[in-house]
Amino acid sequence: MHIMKKLTMSMYLGVLLMLVCLLASCGGRPAITMEDNGLDEFGSSDRVILIVLDGFASRYLNYLDQDSSLYQLLQYATYDLDGQTIYPSHTCNAHTSLMTGTYPDQHGLIGNVYYDQNERISQKNISADLIDQKTLFEIAGEHGKKTAIVSGKKNMLTLFEKGCDIQATMSAHPDYIGEALQLDDSENNDQYYDYHLKTTSWVFEALKSVLTEEKPDFTLVNIQSADSIGHRFGPDSFEVAQAVKLIDQEIGKLFSYMKKSDILSDTAVMILADHGMSPVSKAIPINVLMNNNFDQAAVVVDGRNAYIWLNGDDAAAVTTFFEAQEGVARITSKGSPEAQALRVDCERCPDLILDSEPGYLFIPEALLWKYQGMHGTTEDSDMNIPMIFFGSGIPQNQEMADAKIVDLAALTCKLMGLTADGFDGTVPRLTAPGAEAVDFFTGQGD
Ligand SMILES: [Zn+2]
Repeated sequence: MHIMKKLTMSMYLGVLLMLVCLLASCGGRPAITMEDNGLDEFGSSDRVILIVLDGFASRYLNYLDQDSSLYQLLQYATYDLDGQTIYPSHTCNAHTSLMTGTYPDQHGLIGNVYYDQNERISQKNISADLIDQKTLFEIAGEHGKKTAIVSGKKNMLTLFEKGCDIQATMSAHPDYIGEALQLDDSENNDQYYDYHLKTTSWVFEALKSVLTEEKPDFTLVNIQSADSIGHRFGPDSFEVAQAVKLIDQEIGKLFSYMKKSDILSDTAVMILADHGMSPVSKAIPINVLMNNNFDQAAVVVDGRNAYIWLNGDDAAAVTTFFEAQEGVARITSKGSPEAQALRVDCERCPDLILDSEPGYLFIPEALLWKYQGMHGTTEDSDMNIPMIFFGSGIPQNQEMADAKIVDLAALTCKLMGLTADGFDGTVPRLTAPGAEAVDFFTGQGD
């Protein structure tokens, strides 16, 4: 009798244990714990990894609950859940501000695109030659450090090719990384969604491989899915919520991997976004308006911004015309105090920068179906980005006051002991740990 009872008990326990393991692995939510490192200010770290969650607006954190990896990480992290990116809030120039520690008027990239005066066409800001400042790759290289980029956006490789030792993206990567999925039909929403989720997991796997095989000192990572899926389905969509949950799970798995393989003991990890995402549903067909009304001026469109080069047309006439257009919220002129304050006054800067009203973007009507989310303005939904740092040299359970994306080059250099100057940003100031995060994640706060 006794033995039978014992057997039954152990069977129960066994089944229970199996269930717990199953639940844990299905949820992809390994418990996150770190030893107290006793730091109350930023220390030092042999290695730094910057993980940019592209287009991951601060409010996307509301899609996560208290069991999520990011939520669990907060008690071991230094964070600002409402950090600030730069204006205009776009991928190429925000990454460049991150990598140079400077504002657009210093590094020379305004948004994702510019007007090429010689070719008379719109060009993408994806060439390393366009960057007027030294990047963290170049600074690290000067100090004999090994650098790597692992990116779900291919353009990041050309933009930051200077001083980068190891490059990995879906189409080009070292052999020890498995093959990536190809996107067959970008107009099929199901395929598009599926591709970006699978690519997210691929990038995280590629990162683990690069960390293990190469042991880089400084690594830049771009996770593309919150942005790509946010653009197509909108920031309030089920699809974005799922992408956010997947990213969170992958961060949990990365944490476990780094801890198990002892990478975390000498590595600081900074998780951040490059910009946010706002819902859009209305088009401002600015190319047509420009062609029909002005002879010389040229415009290039960049989501919720349009950049105008006057080429001899009258600034006041162009400004007055577009101020009267439905959906245009603001026009900033080169040389004005406003342009200086927004840090978009420079030789290569456009003559006029237009911002859209909430709900609008600059695009031909025919392409509107592609976009339910967009960014670029100074609105909180476009500008506010989470910043969550943990690992070697990072104080635990600390908040930063007003952390900015331009501050992280200075912080990276401080952590790694690299000497560099000319940054606009500074090492973020720490404040006492606050209760705000709890409100944020439970949706009780703002
Ligand atoms: Zn982006």
